[in-house]
Amino acid sequence: MKTIGLIGGMSWESTVPYYRIINEHIKDRLGGLHSAELILYSVDFQPIEQLQHSGDWDETGRILARAARSLESAGADCVVLCTNTMHKVADQIGAAIRIPLLHIADATGTTVVSAGLDTVGLLGTKFTMEREFYRGWLEKNYNLNVLIPSEADRTVIHRVIYDELCLGNVLNESRELFKEIIDRLVHVGAQGVILGCTEISMLVSDDDSQVPLFDTTAIHARYAVDWALGN
Ligand code: GLU
Repeated sequence: MKTIGLIGGMSWESTVPYYRIINEHIKDRLGGLHSAELILYSVDFQPIEQLQHSGDWDETGRILARAARSLESAGADCVVLCTNTMHKVADQIGAAIRIPLLHIADATGTTVVSAGLDTVGLLGTKFTMEREFYRGWLEKNYNLNVLIPSEADRTVIHRVIYDELCLGNVLNESRELFKEIIDRLVHVGAQGVILGCTEISMLVSDDDSQVPLFDTTAIHARYAVDWALGN
C-alpha cells in the first residue's frame, strides 16, 4: 500500500470525514484490521480564507506548496488536497513536488462519467462555481455540460459554506435553501448535482434530491485509496 499525503484543515470539519472514509474504504477493500498509511498536514484556515477573499491566490499557492513538500519529505507517495476551491492553485502545488497531486476534479469527472451522465449541476464556493479552474476541467477533460446556480443562489451557497458549515453549524433552514437550489438546477436540465465543496455533504444527502448527488469528499477519499492500492 502506498502512503497518502493529505493537506487538510480547509476546513477541518471536512478533513475529519476524509480520514474516516479513507480508512473505511481500505477496510472494505482489504478487510481485517487494515487501515490507511497516511500523513496529514493540516493548515490554519483563517489566513488562507483571508487571502482567498483578498485575491492573493499566489500566496495561498506558496503556503500549500510548502505543505505538499513537507508531505513529500515525510514519505508521502501522493498529495490529496482536501478542498475543491484550493485546486485553483493545483498547478503551483503540483510544480513544487515530484509525487502526483490526485486532482479532485479527476476523481469527480470519472465518477460522473461512469454514472452515465453528461449534464450536471455544480454547487461550491463562488470561486469554484464561477471560475474556470473547476468547471473548465470537467468540461474539457470529461466532456461534461456543467450548470451553475443563479447569482442569488450562488451568494446563498457561498455564505452558508463559510459562515456555517466551515464552523460546524448545520442548520435546517439552510438545508431547505439548498434543496430548493438543487431543484432549480434539475428544472433546467441537471441529471445529477456535484457537491463541489467538501463541507456540503454535512448538510444535504441523497434524500434531499430527486437526482444523484456527487459528494466530492467521499469520491476523492475513495479515489485516493484506489490509487494507493494500485488501481
Ligand atoms: N472545503 C471547501 C471546498 O471544498 C471550501 C473551503 C475552501 O475555501 O477551501 O471548496
